Amino acid sequence: MKFCITYNYILPNITFITGYAPVAYCFGNYMAAIAKQITSEDKSKYKTLVELADAHCHLYAFDGSAIADAVARGVATMISNGIDTKSNLKTLEVSDGRHVFPALGIHPDYAENIGDDEIEYNIRLIRENKNIVKSIGEIGLDFTHANGIKGIEKQIALFETFIDLSNELNLPISVHSRDAMQQVLHILDEKDAHAVHLHFFEGNVDNAIEAARRGYMISVPPLKSGSRTSAIKAVPIGNLMAETDSPTANSSPSDVDKAVSIIADAKGMQYEDAAHILTENTKRFFNISTAKFMRNAGP
Ligand SMILES: [Zn+2]
Repeated sequence: MKFCITYNYILPNITFITGYAPVAYCFGNYMAAIAKQITSEDKSKYKTLVELADAHCHLYAFDGSAIADAVARGVATMISNGIDTKSNLKTLEVSDGRHVFPALGIHPDYAENIGDDEIEYNIRLIRENKNIVKSIGEIGLDFTHANGIKGIEKQIALFETFIDLSNELNLPISVHSRDAMQQVLHILDEKDAHAVHLHFFEGNVDNAIEAARRGYMISVPPLKSGSRTSAIKAVPIGNLMAETDSPTANSSPSDVDKAVSIIADAKGMQYEDAAHILTENTKRFFNISTAKFMRNAGP
């Protein structure tokens, strides 16, 4: 009986007892009855479980157990981004509309070699799924990997195509930028992009302030860096989200708590308070309102 997770719907923070597999959910009076049986030894296992959201990950790269594990750890919302045709299709497959929500796009690394037909196919895929797609992403610019001027031009053209699509469909965009922040900000402004998420933020303090001024969201991964900490400090927490970009750096969506901690530390906030705000920011930005904590995380 003690090897279960108990969720409390009334309190914003969820107290839970966790043991070992198999994990089971317990609700209501059943939960209270179990709580009474907790010994003092068990109490050492209490932790505060807060609802978390991963604003940017790549769940096509995982099997279902990583998703279930993240949900069991409170990561109730995950925005899973595709990067090419194959991963966009897989992203739709792994999205359940309760915990996993799709973002579809073409990563700038694939811009140079993708043909017009394949671009059209992906645009059609987004249009056909516009009611479940929560963002167009991952899109953007990556000048580290661009192959000369021609490569940069193709990246910019594809980025602009997807910004136009997002404006037309009224969808947010999840933007990758590497060594390209000035250009990214310039194009977003020129194209009048309306709901922008700058993921794995690489910009400086001035870029962060400008992004926040425009109402953009900035997300940070579970990797600490001095420049990102300065950027976090420079913008209101209302413009921030936590992400993992998993499986980057061998992370999984469960690691989003580390990104939350980085933001909480930089802001001098309690972890739970930061987690609550960041989760709400993510759900608001991606227009996610479904009830959470209902899926059995067991095998
Ligand atoms: Zn990514």
